[in-house]
Amino acid sequence: MSSPLTPILPEVQARLARPHASFIDGEQRTPAGDARRTLRNPADDSPLAEVRLADLEQVDACVQSAHRAFRSGAWSGLAPSERERVLLRFADLVERHAEELAQLETLEQGKSIHIARAIEVGASLGYMRYMAGWATKIEGQTLDVSIPMPAGARFNAYTRREPVGVVAGIVPWNFPLMIALWKVMPALACGCTVIIKPADETPLTALRAAELAIEAGIPAGIFNVLLGGAEAGAALVAHPLLNKVSFTGSTAVGKLVGGAALQNMTRFTLELGGKNPMLVLPDADLDKAVAGAIGGGLLNQGQVCAAASRLFVHSSRHAEFVERLADQVGGLGIGPGLDPQAQVNPLVSRRQQDSVLRHLALAREQGARFVCGGGRPDLPGYYVEPTVLDGVDAGMACAREEIFGPVLSVLSYDDLDTAVAQINDNPYGLAASIWSNDLGRVMDLIPRIEAGTVWVNNHVPVDPNLPFGGYKQSGLGREFGRAAIEGFTEEKSVCITY
Ligand code: NAD
Repeated sequence: MSSPLTPILPEVQARLARPHASFIDGEQRTPAGDARRTLRNPADDSPLAEVRLADLEQVDACVQSAHRAFRSGAWSGLAPSERERVLLRFADLVERHAEELAQLETLEQGKSIHIARAIEVGASLGYMRYMAGWATKIEGQTLDVSIPMPAGARFNAYTRREPVGVVAGIVPWNFPLMIALWKVMPALACGCTVIIKPADETPLTALRAAELAIEAGIPAGIFNVLLGGAEAGAALVAHPLLNKVSFTGSTAVGKLVGGAALQNMTRFTLELGGKNPMLVLPDADLDKAVAGAIGGGLLNQGQVCAAASRLFVHSSRHAEFVERLADQVGGLGIGPGLDPQAQVNPLVSRRQQDSVLRHLALAREQGARFVCGGGRPDLPGYYVEPTVLDGVDAGMACAREEIFGPVLSVLSYDDLDTAVAQINDNPYGLAASIWSNDLGRVMDLIPRIEAGTVWVNNHVPVDPNLPFGGYKQSGLGREFGRAAIEGFTEEKSVCITY
């Protein structure tokens, strides 16, 4: 099943044809070094664009630029209402270029054009406007104090929130534009300057966003983009002029980033991996639960930190659930992200495809039953068939490790206490969902689940006003809402004697 591919806009074609380099001080700058990367189209493995990678001198130039811009006050010194106005204009420009950005994202990342339009750009617009509004709502407190000296002295004490300074936003490849904006927008709303380091595979939309920021009136140096991989990322985090790192990525790299940041007391927040359970109670509406497993587990080919990936289904409903799930998953059409009919698209890279196939081989070896999928379709891109694994034991790797691919592992349980113990017996704690209309049971379960987010009768919706982050090895700190503003500001206490 395939249909005509979405025609690529001329401006996207022109952009792909030109070379790309880090965006520093308001423009793309060619590095002195010769390190390059050829981006590849995940749909067919063809070369897509050429990228020049930053050398260490450029890492320094990028941080110096953001530091100078911060010290100049050109952004933090604006009236909050002016920052808000400029950020709203930035959102309008992203909206005006929505199709261009969505196509770039599908081409570099592989995802469905529908998801690129609706989430990567569409959901980001809501987030951008929400965060722009925070620029005018940052506040401190006035506090009564009881300082006894000197006798008779009177005090006025209050706190104020000030921008933390130069922020590095280190971003993974699964939602490159959206996650970059998750960092850029609150950082800029608070008056910080920001350097985005996209993942090696997916730099194009962050670069375009930085250009649009300039067009919106955000001064040069306030929003820079540094192109490169682990080496550039590590040099960025270690830079002494950096004030905060907001990192999203794997737990292993997150630990390196946190450790390095501590050396300079650079503030950091970490949004890391997950192995997110979905708990289906005996009374659950199975139509909704199966749709939730597919939507929450296979969105973006399962390359979602909060994806449902271990499904605990009560034994009384297990067989029916697996049958319905396999029926629907087995019927999903596979094809390029630009094919508007395709429901399952390629993974981001050959490396990720190989990694998911290795996980599947291990699941086979450990005795999981493949109800559907499990293979690599005979297509030139980085595809993996959407896969349902049954007969999964809580100790198997497919029930414990983050696969970050289109793989749903189904487990059966008889009593809820055992299911909750198995859910919590995992180093990750990002998100979970409960499927039931038994209000009392649901309310009892919510506090027992070790996860930063618990959804009930849905899996994976996020909202800019709802804090997002992980328990345990899924991260440190929270993004979104007031928590994000706290993360990009320092709290200063002021005490005045009068
Ligand atoms: P990754 O950890 O390999 O890379 C993330 C980013 O870190 C990339 O930009 C990479 O170049 C950079 N990096 C690599 N080594 C570095 C180092 N030593 N110092 C500084 N930067 C370095 O992750 P990935 O493979 O790009 O993304 C997938 C992972 O991201 C998954 O584990 C997923 O769960 C996680 N993720 C988490 C969230 C969340 O909000 N919790 C959201 C999306 C993705």
